[in-house]
Amino acid sequence: MKNIVVFDEVKEVDLKPSGLLRKYVELTKEDLKKFFLKEKKLEECLCPACHSNRQAKAFARFGLEYQECLSCHSLFISPRPDDAALNEFYVKAPSRIFWREELSRVTKQKRDEKIIKPRFQWILESAQEYFPGAQDFADVNTNQLGIIEEIAGAENFRRRTLINPFLKKEELNSIAIEVLEGPWWETPLKNEVDVMSLFEMIDRVAHPDGLLRKVGQILRPGGLVFMTAITASGFDVQVLWERAENLYPPDRLNIFTVEGLRTLFERHGFECLELSTPGVLDVDIVAKAFKDDPQIPLPRFVRYLLSQKDPQIKKAFQEFLQANRMSSYARILLRKK
Ligand SMILES: [Zn+2]
Repeated sequence: MKNIVVFDEVKEVDLKPSGLLRKYVELTKEDLKKFFLKEKKLEECLCPACHSNRQAKAFARFGLEYQECLSCHSLFISPRPDDAALNEFYVKAPSRIFWREELSRVTKQKRDEKIIKPRFQWILESAQEYFPGAQDFADVNTNQLGIIEEIAGAENFRRRTLINPFLKKEELNSIAIEVLEGPWWETPLKNEVDVMSLFEMIDRVAHPDGLLRKVGQILRPGGLVFMTAITASGFDVQVLWERAENLYPPDRLNIFTVEGLRTLFERHGFECLELSTPGVLDVDIVAKAFKDDPQIPLPRFVRYLLSQKDPQIKKAFQEFLQANRMSSYARILLRKK
């Protein structure tokens, strides 16, 4: 199984401008009350990665609770809304509309350059390596225009499809691309796709098992799945835990560990061709949290690391995290057997 180490200069503030992000978080809190907390249609669940029933409360976030699996140590919200309720949230919630129409636009240029272009380079090169001649591409629930533009431009795929109930046709402007507007579990595609992309999708579905089962039905044998996810085994999440600002529902309903992800993929019979954690922000995120609040309890070693003046040390530490799959941003390549 491959583990790729990359290094790129990227700053969290370019991707997440703090003023707009604060507004997005405030809107999300309000939306969670409206959409999920009032009617209390929430269901308890087992660990969605390894199905263990041994769990302990980790911390609460915006009225919902993260549990820690005591077997694979993934974090997951339980009780949780179902996928139909989540779908409605992603279509209608004002926080999501704000994200699509404002936040994602302000950061589009940096995201396109620093994240999306390298991501598509990875997809195109890996597809060439593992499935030469792949012709049919489908993406599930992408919400960034930059990704849609890349998919539309990937002309080596004969057919490019977006499975996506959130997009407004008029927002696609002149991008000629097939859109299946229903939710992913209703898509009629069967045994007819060579390559799929699921960007941070596994983080935000109520039933990852249902999603992977569906993906297995959509793909042809030998078909590839490209995924990205935030991991609970990553450095900044492990260090900050309940103080990690980027962990909140429903975007991060599941925060799997690397071990949890492996168990999940094995259960669904996928071959894992690559599992890398090419994140570049872990140390920066912890440094920022410490700068914002010097009182937060950090391990002595982490304080010492952050106090180092030579930027090369932090960079080398981040490279160590990547080399050992200990960054909190993961990219995964699976193959249907
Ligand atoms: Zn587990």
